[in-house]
Amino acid sequence: MRDDKVQCQCCGKWMVPRPIFSRGIWSNGWRVGGGRVIGSICPFCLNEDWDGVERVHRGVLFKTLALAISVFLGYVYVFVREILKKTSRFW
Ligand SMILES: [Zn+2]
Repeated sequence: MRDDKVQCQCCGKWMVPRPIFSRGIWSNGWRVGGGRVIGSICPFCLNEDWDGVERVHRGVLFKTLALAISVFLGYVYVFVREILKKTSRFW
């Protein structure tokens, strides 16, 4: 096993991550821009999350945060609506 190989957290194979390049724009047969490395993927399962844990955790954290915020906003909306309903009764 060579040192430059890493184990993919998605398919469990040992591989060398393949870089992904940004595409750029084709104009008159010439490629304008692009060619920049924007990430890397596992050549077997083509998954960007081959290094696993950290990114997955960040995704879960983000989703939890987004859910918490949407639930909070939902509560605020209902709360404000209830207050408006109650106060408008007295007006
Ligand atoms: Zn893989």
